[in-house]
Amino acid sequence: MPAIRGQDSKKKTRRHTRDLDQIHDDIHKEKHLDKYKSTKHTEDLPGLGQFYCVECAKWFESEANLTAHSKGKVHKRRVRQLKEEPYSQKEAEAAAGLTWTDNGKRKEEDHELEMAEAT
Ligand SMILES: [Zn+2]
Repeated sequence: MPAIRGQDSKKKTRRHTRDLDQIHDDIHKEKHLDKYKSTKHTEDLPGLGQFYCVECAKWFESEANLTAHSKGKVHKRRVRQLKEEPYSQKEAEAAAGLTWTDNGKRKEEDHELEMAEAT
C-alpha cells in the first residue's frame, strides 16, 4: 500500500522527547541508544527503565503498558514515519511550519485529528 502523504506530519509537539533523526540512529546503532539511556537515571524512569519504546523514545510502567502502546495508533504512526520518511532537512523545515504554505488542506486535516484525539 502506498504511503498516504500528509498523515505523518509533525503535529504532535505537545511534549518534546527526541528528534526523529536521533531515534533513527537509536534504532540502527545500539551504542547510540545506550548513550542516550545512560544519560537517564533508571530509578527516575517509569518501570525503572525496563520497558522502553525505541521508536517513540518513551518509557512505560510495565510490560503490559508497553505492549498496549505498541499496538496503538500513536506508535504505529511513528514506526511508519520512521520507515517511510527518513528524517531530512526538508522535514525539519516542515516541522517548523516553513513549507506548508502550498498545502492548506493538510493543515485542516491535522487540526481535526488533533481535536479528535484530545477528547
Ligand atoms: Zn512506541
